[in-house]
Amino acid sequence: MTAIYLDNNATRKIYKEVIEAMKETYSVPLNASSIHSFGRNAKRLLEQSRSKISQFLHADNYNVIFTSSGTESNNQVIRGFSDYKKLISSIEHPSLYRAADDIYKIPVDNNGIVNLLALKKLLVGGPKKTLVSVMHANNETGIIQPVVEIAKICKENGILFHTDAVQTFGKVNFKIDDLSPDFMTISAHKIGGPQGAAALLVRKNFAPFPFLKGGGQEFGFRAGSENIPAIVGFAKAVEITQDKMNQLSQIGILRDYMENKLKQICPEIVIIGEDALRIVNTSCIIMPNVANDVQLVHFDLKNIAVSSGAACSSGKVEASYVLQAMNVPQDKVKNAIRVSLSLDNNYKEIDNFIEAWQELYLRNKDSNAAA
Ligand code: PLP
Repeated sequence: MTAIYLDNNATRKIYKEVIEAMKETYSVPLNASSIHSFGRNAKRLLEQSRSKISQFLHADNYNVIFTSSGTESNNQVIRGFSDYKKLISSIEHPSLYRAADDIYKIPVDNNGIVNLLALKKLLVGGPKKTLVSVMHANNETGIIQPVVEIAKICKENGILFHTDAVQTFGKVNFKIDDLSPDFMTISAHKIGGPQGAAALLVRKNFAPFPFLKGGGQEFGFRAGSENIPAIVGFAKAVEITQDKMNQLSQIGILRDYMENKLKQICPEIVIIGEDALRIVNTSCIIMPNVANDVQLVHFDLKNIAVSSGAACSSGKVEASYVLQAMNVPQDKVKNAIRVSLSLDNNYKEIDNFIEAWQELYLRNKDSNAAA
């Protein structure tokens, strides 16, 4: 059976057109800091790419700083404000919560939504020099956060606000000014671009706070020769994504079809955040009585790629801190898997996944009943 890829929040298959665009750049030397014609060519490609990404987000009021990854962008913000009090939600990506030791967590409610009252309380009487970071949507559950309100609260209190939009960029239709953060993280490989290119959008009134120090590249915000092939690929992926934004609802229909079928098979199933606002491609599913590592192996044997949503770099499945922060009971946390779709997926693939899910569910249901 051909492989079925349902792990698009981890990374999305790179578009062929992106590879083609990148290939062309590899045939010439490209250092955007050089003053000769080759350098000017590199600079032109760099600035065209920057404009494309800026236009997509309507980011006239922001500088688009190219970085190597969403991880780097997140680290840059947290480390760039080392003398600030840092408040982040309890469901942020490790590239935020591991970026510094002195980080305070904002709780989320049982629906996975940041508790705005708790945030306000944490800000009252706190230092003016505070940085808040709340992701636009969570990578494990797809639940979208009230970033507009959070940005407003921060503005009212004169507090800096960063949002990690890695999982919503290209999956949710928004202009950056709709959310109005001071800083925003995006990453190319989640939308069909290459790994090795990402960006930090910084409101234009900020002086550079470089994480990597050296040359004056990226308006002084990020030293190091720009990765022009990857950046060109990033911009191409944005161009393709822009053309497909009006097809996003199709992914949602496919995801809802899958969830409804699974609910018919198993009424006790839990879909995390089912009633919350979610990105259309993501489903966090709890199969009763079957641990997620057992599920992952079962699907892998069927050549279906899904994820636990919380695999650490060693590949070991760990209990999800995101679900724990949402007070999901332990016996459910360990049974959760993440299915994340893209426009590449189709009904046949989803039917195969449902069939494999049902097989495992029924096998364990019977054995539990017999026990
Ligand atoms: N933030 C979120 C929400 C993510 O899902 C990821 C990647 O999974 C990252 C940041 C890190 O991005 P990158 O893989 O580009 O380092």
